[in-house]
Amino acid sequence: LDDPVHDNRPRLLIMGLRRSGKSSIQKVVFHKMPANETLFLESTNKVVKENITSFIDFQVWDFPGQIDYFDPSYDSNVIFGEYGALIFVIDAQDDYSEALIRLHQTVTRAYNVNNDLIFEVFIHKVDALSDEYKIDTQREIQQRTTDELADFGLENVPISFYLTSIYDHSIFEAFSKVIQKLIPQLPTLENLLNILCANSGIEKAFLFDVNSKIYIATDSSPVDMQSYEICSDMIDVIIDISEIYGRTNNSYREEVYNEDHSQANTNGTTNNTNGNYGAITETANDAESLIKLSNEMILCLRGVNRFLALVCLLRSDNFEMHGLIDYNFQCFKQAISDVFELKRRGTERLRHERMR
Ligand code: GDP
Repeated sequence: LDDPVHDNRPRLLIMGLRRSGKSSIQKVVFHKMPANETLFLESTNKVVKENITSFIDFQVWDFPGQIDYFDPSYDSNVIFGEYGALIFVIDAQDDYSEALIRLHQTVTRAYNVNNDLIFEVFIHKVDALSDEYKIDTQREIQQRTTDELADFGLENVPISFYLTSIYDHSIFEAFSKVIQKLIPQLPTLENLLNILCANSGIEKAFLFDVNSKIYIATDSSPVDMQSYEICSDMIDVIIDISEIYGRTNNSYREEVYNEDHSQANTNGTTNNTNGNYGAITETANDAESLIKLSNEMILCLRGVNRFLALVCLLRSDNFEMHGLIDYNFQCFKQAISDVFELKRRGTERLRHERMR
């Protein structure tokens, strides 16, 4: 690998059979492609490696279904050896027997290479299934997977299962959970959000990565889907409005023309930085917005740094003390910046150590 420090970032491996929805997921979550446009995506036949420049830098490797990554010409240490998560996508609208065989092979082999890898299964395209059928499908896939792994003595491998679809928020919710497992600062962030909520009369707060609408942390009150959806929709509203009416020199969304680092490595892997075809969204640090809802709640968005925004829901009578909320928010913002300053210094130290 060319750059050991850069490649130190967590890696998401997206695997699954052909047409299971891997590329669509990636386009919808990281490139804001509308879900119905994925109908026209061409199937990839190469490993696509993409660096996502966002709040946490991570790499997404999309493996076409037909590639046998256990073939000796692929180095499984390179593929599975790094810190990260393996997301296996199963098309729930199709017969999934073959996908399950593939999943079991993948988990057993990948676990032997790297037993720190986090395994996640997306039971995907569930938009067409009834609620009852969804639950049954998940139960069956989960059961067959645990049984199969137990036969190989791998009953303790932690695997999580999610029901997902690109046609609603479930794919973002699932990604949020996966990414949160890769953020070592998560307990600190949750703690800061809890303190902020408790001292400001906030019902629910999400810290969003604006570019992907993945929430990287939330306070510890339970997440209900409706609050999550409305907070996530607010980001779109704010971005759309600021694109139309925003100041031109401080717009939310900037086209980023990175140098094209496309190159094929020995495995025929294509290395693709997101600047080639993506737009990356940045929040202005001082972004601020309020929406009063018809149910006496207030939806409030505040920019935290280039990539992060806090979106919270609070009762409108609690908003009367907005001076206090503003003050608390400034403290929160400072604390977040301190947390990630520590991380940056840690990475720099690592770089110096490796150079020595
Ligand atoms: P890949 O070969 O795994 O990369 O699969 P693609 O991303 O090319 O997707 C194959 C097909 O599945 C496309 O026609 C997508 O529009 C469709 N698809 C992807 N995700 C979903 C989903 O959540 N629901 C439905 N109904 N179709 C989906």
